[in-house]
Amino acid sequence: MKVAISACLLGCSCRYDGTDNLNETLLKKLSDCELIPFCPEDDVFGTPRPTMDLIQSDHLIHAISNASGENLTPSIQRYAQKFFDTHPDIDLLIGKDRSPSCGVRTAKIYNLHKELISTKGEGIMVQEAQRRGIPTFGSEEYSTL
Ligand code: SF4
Repeated sequence: MKVAISACLLGCSCRYDGTDNLNETLLKKLSDCELIPFCPEDDVFGTPRPTMDLIQSDHLIHAISNASGENLTPSIQRYAQKFFDTHPDIDLLIGKDRSPSCGVRTAKIYNLHKELISTKGEGIMVQEAQRRGIPTFGSEEYSTL
């Protein structure tokens, strides 16, 4: 099985602050799979980098930089489209929980006043996988299956 997975879960130090989210339990569970790592934020913005949040506006959800206020969504979408075009035979995506790029049913969504309106959102990279019909799981959810 070919699994697209958030690179930080494999121990890559690509989080915004240069740390990782190594999940050895998950990796053991995936030991028979071919893992294809991805990290849209490191690729597009580099590491370390300012954080961003998902903001809902007019029923659309945008990734907004907490440093500049810039809408970062198009850059992440371009990365995601290229990633899945390059790997058209991905069977499954496993994303880091709560990330605005990689969270699966766990990303926080705020309104324009920065009030939390949901903790069950999909990250921007995950949205592209779902548009393509790829099954998606959060790392914590998949670890306990
Ligand atoms: S959660 Fe996603 S965007 Fe954030 S560091 Fe991990 S792979 Fe990169």
